[in-house]
Formats: sequence, C-alpha cells, structure tokens
Amino acid sequence: MFPVIFLPPGKCFHLKMRIPVPGTIATSIKCSSSYILRPCQQTDYIQRRGYKKKWAKNEGSKPYTVHALNHMETFYKPVFKNLWPSIRISLLTTSKYCALLNNYNSESDKVENYLKDFGAYNAMEEAASARKKYLEKENKQILIENSSLPLDSFLDFPKRPQKKEDENDEYNNESFDETEEEAVDKIEPVVGKNTSLHDFIPTKKVFSEKELLQQQIVSTSTFSDSTVDVPIKVIQEQVPELPNSMKFFVYPKGDVSNFPNPKMKHGDLLGYYLLDATSLLPVVALDIQERDSVLDLCAAPGGKTLAMLQTLQTENITCNDESWTRLGRLRDIAKWYLGGVPSSMSVSRNDGKHFVDPLYDKVLVDVPCNTDRHVLISEDNNLFKPGRVDERLNLPSRQRDLLIAGIQSCKPGGTIVYSTCTLSPAQNDGVIQATMEHLWKETEIDSVVIDLSYLRPIFASIFSFFPETKYGQLVIPSLSSNFGPMYICKIKRIR
Ligand code: SAM
Repeated sequence: MFPVIFLPPGKCFHLKMRIPVPGTIATSIKCSSSYILRPCQQTDYIQRRGYKKKWAKNEGSKPYTVHALNHMETFYKPVFKNLWPSIRISLLTTSKYCALLNNYNSESDKVENYLKDFGAYNAMEEAASARKKYLEKENKQILIENSSLPLDSFLDFPKRPQKKEDENDEYNNESFDETEEEAVDKIEPVVGKNTSLHDFIPTKKVFSEKELLQQQIVSTSTFSDSTVDVPIKVIQEQVPELPNSMKFFVYPKGDVSNFPNPKMKHGDLLGYYLLDATSLLPVVALDIQERDSVLDLCAAPGGKTLAMLQTLQTENITCNDESWTRLGRLRDIAKWYLGGVPSSMSVSRNDGKHFVDPLYDKVLVDVPCNTDRHVLISEDNNLFKPGRVDERLNLPSRQRDLLIAGIQSCKPGGTIVYSTCTLSPAQNDGVIQATMEHLWKETEIDSVVIDLSYLRPIFASIFSFFPETKYGQLVIPSLSSNFGPMYICKIKRIR
C-alpha cells in the first residue's frame, strides 16, 4: 500500500527526482528515506523535464543525485555534526542570488533604485558599517602593516629538510604507498626451507579493486591535519577596506524572493548580474589595489572577473581558463556588461598549471570542485556518474596543482586567494595543507596563510560561517540565507 500525503492548500510539492506533483493532494507516491519532500518551484519543474529520457535509460539504477547525497551523508555529516541536517535541507532547496550592480552601465543609479524597489538592500554598505563597528569594538586594527614591515620580518621558518632524490610525490597515493613499503620491510626472508608456489607466504593483505577504490574515495574525501609535518603559519593582517564600489543587492534574511532576469531596461548595457553572493567574498579577500596586476587563473564563465572589475581598481587583469566553451561565456559577459573585452583585460586559454612566472600582484585560484549544489539537483554532467569517478577522485590533486601554479605566478609580497564552492574538507583545508607541504618540501617558495576570520563578523548578517575550519573560511548554506557553500583561503607569498 502506498501512503497518501496531504499537502497544504495552495502549495505545490514534489518528490526529489520525481515529476512534480501539482495540486493539493498527492496520491500513490512511494516514499523511501532517500527521497525528500521540498517546495516545488517553477525552475525545478523546467530543470527536471529535460531529464525524463535519461531516467528511462538509467531505470533500475539510482540517480546520480542520490549517489551524491549518499556521499555527502557519509563524508560531510561527521564533520558538520548537528549543523548537517540544516545544511542538507538548504543544499536541496533553491539557492539565493544577489544582484551585482554593473557600474559600467551609464544609468547604474537608476538600476540601483530599481533593485531597491524590490525590497533589496546594498549588502556592501551594511558590511562596511559592520566592519567599522568590529574595528571599534575589538580594537583589532594594525596588527601588521602590509607595506611598512619588510616581507620576512615576521617570518622565522626553520631550515628546510634535505630533499630526497627520488621521493614519490603522488598526493593521492602517499599513505597507501608508505604502508605498502612498511609491509614489504616486515616480510622475513625464509631461510633453510624449500619454498614452492604452494607454500603459504604471509602478505599484509591483498586488496580487491573495490577495496582500493574505497580507500581512494576515503583518502580523497577526508581531511586530517594530524599528518602535517611542515610549519604552516597563519598570520593576522590589517583588516582591509571593503571595495565599496562593488555594490551587491540582497533580500533580507528569510526572504526567498528572486530577482527578475536582467534586461537592458536602463542604459545600453545590462544593469546587474545575478550570482551567489558568496562568490564576492574571494574578491573582497583579494583586496585589489590600484595598479595591481591580477590573474584569474580559472576565470570562466566570468562571474568573479566581472565582480573584480566592479571594484573599479583593476587596470590589468589576465583571465585564463582551459575550457574554450566556457571562455566563450566569459566573452559574452564582457559584451553584455562591459560592451566588449576591455583593453585592460586579456583572455587566455591554457592549462592553469603552466602559469609559473611570478608576474602578478594578486591571483585568484577559483578551482573546479565537487560543485555540491549542482550534483544534488542535476543529472546532467553530474560528477557522480560512474564514468567520471577518476575525475572526481583526482580533484584534490588537480586543485593542489592549480594552487601551486597560482602561488608560483604571484610576485613575492603578493597575495593569492583560493576558493571552492564545496563543503568537502579535503578540497578545502586539505588542499591548502597539501600545497603548503609541497612548497615547503619541493620549492624555495615561502608563504603564509592570512587569517580571514574578520570576514565572519563583517558578513554575519548575510552569511552563516562554519567555525571549525583550520586555514580558510567556509560559508555554509542555511535556509534563512541560502547562499554558498563557499570556501576561501588567502595566502601571502613571502619569497
Ligand atoms: N571563476 C569562475 C567564475 O567565477 O565564474 C568559475 C570557475 S569554475 C569554479 C572552475 C573553472 O576552472 C572552470 O571554468 C574550468 O573550465 C576551469 N579549469 C579546470 N581545470 C583547469 C585547468 N587545469 N586550468 C585552467 N582552468 C581550469
């Protein structure tokens, strides 16, 4: 017998990954623990209609979105503990967007009023006054003056260890290789006995392919700071000014209204750009100053590039991405919001790992990641497809390589911001740790992590932060303020 579910009048609900059930009474719906009920929005309906065929093709197997959710239950729940149920439901609910004002539009003041008429407010203004209050209350200012102290004056790194010649540098398999070596060492030679193929020779354990895969999944999905054997310094720095020109409008907490899609209503260019408001945090952390040369290493489709340009400080920006198609979208954004690619901006299509020359003052490394929201709502191009398992398991090492390149391409004294839109600790703090270990062991580069915890009080009225990260800051989605996830970590290159 199927249960009958009564829904509140006027509401439309659907089961996740099932066709929405419009109306007030839903009948004959099979419920299991992996399906959840959530308010249905028009966009959900449109999104799912496109995938009917694919469900039919995969009939009998679980949707990839369910695999993704199971993965998160396994690896995120133990990290976020009692916060997990709220994060989970928020991830499964339509996310919130902010409207980033386009300063390049000749009538941006009219657009501003238009957005205010919807009941939205400029969150940057609110953050600026929160910053002021924070500095007054905490008397935190001027811990370290960026420019006045010589770069290495606060650094007292111990001597680097001698590098071993043929050290294996495989991030993914490090721990596994070590245990194998230990196991081989422990096998005692058999002396004075005839041994044949039938004799029992004890080995540590023979792993099946499935077990090896499971080990790899665990090692690439968890983060443990207990193994770190290099000095990773987390330094406090002067709280930077906020980029006040970068105005972004949000609805108050608890208000889940959407902004209409931008049209050329005012002026000749689009008036605002819709994006997750947490995408602006890496730009805030980057603290772009006039005359800074900026590298956006994984730039496409260009949301953060556009935000950086809205600070009106970027005179020289290089936008790189390895995807030609996605760079096309970046060019479209430049066309609609800036009237074309400006002379201050150069676009390149390269593997980010090839950026190794220290040419830039500020580098943004916004890496490909688990994309937690996407994998929970869309079957299309889902990272949890069996065919993409290698790609998924290689993400932390790919992210680490991109971050290393980002640091190498930054001038000594410059700063790098690493960001992801996943909650995965392995892809967040884990990558920072692996990068710092690599730089320490394999290069002459010295760098420190800059403490960004001042962002929490400044943006407390807009975002919810997870207090237990080790190196960076993590915004967690919440129902009243459904932005994120977004992880950001700032690194300063010393030499
Ligand atoms: N920063 C972008 C924005 O705000 O719109 C989003 C970047 S998205 C999270 C990650 C990007 O990294 C993708 O566009 C992808 O094509 C690019 N990417 C992946 N691997 C790369 C590599 N090895 N080198 C450069 N870009 C890469």
